[in-house]
Amino acid sequence: MSTIIWFRRDLRIEDNLALSAADGCDVIPVYILEANQGRAINWYLHHALLNLEKKLGSKLNCFNGDALQILLKICSENKVNRVLWNRLYEPELIEGDSKIKRALKERNIEVVSFEGYLLSEPWKCLNLSKKPYQVFTPFWKSLLKIYQHQKPISAPSAINYIQIPSLVVSNLGLLPKLNWANGFSEYWNWQIDNDFAPQNYSQTRDLPGIKGTSRVSPALHFGEVSPRMLWEKALVGRSFASIEPYLRQLGWREFAHSLLFHFPNTVSEPLMEEFNKFPWKKNRKHILAWQQGRTGYPIVDAGMRELWATGWMHNRVRMIVGSFLVKNLLQHWHEGANWFLDTLVDADLANNTMGWQWISGCGADAAPYFRIFNPVLQGEKFDPKGSYVKKWVPELRTVPKKYIHRIWEASELAPDYPKPIVNLAESRDAALDAYQLMKELKARQ
Ligand code: FAD
Repeated sequence: MSTIIWFRRDLRIEDNLALSAADGCDVIPVYILEANQGRAINWYLHHALLNLEKKLGSKLNCFNGDALQILLKICSENKVNRVLWNRLYEPELIEGDSKIKRALKERNIEVVSFEGYLLSEPWKCLNLSKKPYQVFTPFWKSLLKIYQHQKPISAPSAINYIQIPSLVVSNLGLLPKLNWANGFSEYWNWQIDNDFAPQNYSQTRDLPGIKGTSRVSPALHFGEVSPRMLWEKALVGRSFASIEPYLRQLGWREFAHSLLFHFPNTVSEPLMEEFNKFPWKKNRKHILAWQQGRTGYPIVDAGMRELWATGWMHNRVRMIVGSFLVKNLLQHWHEGANWFLDTLVDADLANNTMGWQWISGCGADAAPYFRIFNPVLQGEKFDPKGSYVKKWVPELRTVPKKYIHRIWEASELAPDYPKPIVNLAESRDAALDAYQLMKELKARQ
């Protein structure tokens, strides 16, 4: 008899509870490509699966299609008596998993699922009234009380991996048809970044021109590393207090997953209902200029071009480009969220939804609406020498730092660079007017 390990977003052999539960057994390792997802994340997945395949002695069995039908077929053809997996928490996935569990159990196949994608499962971290938190700080305090850190477990040592008729990773068609992602490999080497020192995180995290964050987001999304492994690594030789600012980011990831679990409609609906009345504009030209990094605002364009070239963007810059799209351009946050889901290698429904709702002022713990990021001041504060802008916007490479974030004051220095597509002060006023209108429409209801 054999066991199926159904790999999903746990593409690792260390600290993998489902895999370790099958130590000493005959195991059919399975990956099933089901959902349609973004192109950049597919590129990353292709390489993550190749890595996993190597670790399994080239015995990863890949499939394309409906998970339930595929699992049932493998079970009936291979004398499988057990299916194990690690749990995920997106609403649609939970529904699918329950169906699969029922169908397998009806056929007398044992099914066990494990935790490990998060530090704590979303139904565990609740307030005193047993309700989900909607504000981060109390959520984080409560999470720290319930999370009991344990050492990550090592890879199992005595599994006999079995190959069955299946596809190989390259048959899954994950690489984009266009060669747009060819340059991504330069930026992703599948090793936790050694240039990153978590104890300096508070000083470096907001500076997009240096490697001041861990860049572990795609690896966390696909579970090449578990949050518990990161927690353990961060604490080696350091006090909790010295690295709390970094660990807190893992807390934001937990918060995002908790929000999505408890408020599944937030993928499309604002958490603050009054924003259903927000008077968004539709301007295809503005959206295209934003996507292509041609808005005429250097830090915004640098961010959008970094995203296109690497599949990733610095968190500070995600906030700046996000605010510019939804407030200065008044485009619906869905436009930004969908573009990010297609072009980020770390595209993650929970983190992305929370990020866009936060920046739009309509989500949990959101910034007050009038907090409209000024791309000039943000650029001058967080990229003072303009090194980030110069890296991604070649038209501005020779511009002196005085003008790097306000190039329209000396446009003769960069004749090929676009003129600003909106005026900052006017577009800020228009955003505040739109917010006021939303409140009036709400009051008239
Ligand atoms: P680090 O600063 O090193 O943090 C470590 C880890 O903590 C990250 O890998 C991530 O898993 C988690 N984390 C950090 N900041 C946040 C945050 N604000 N929210 C949730 N988790 C966080 N993150 C994604 O993983 N996928 C997304 O699709 C995504 N979309 C975003 C959209 C917007 C508009 C905004 C403002 C933020 C978004 N983020 C998203 C959050 C954040 O920008 C990234 O997680 C972070 O930049 C990843 O880089 P890092 O691994 O170097 O982060």
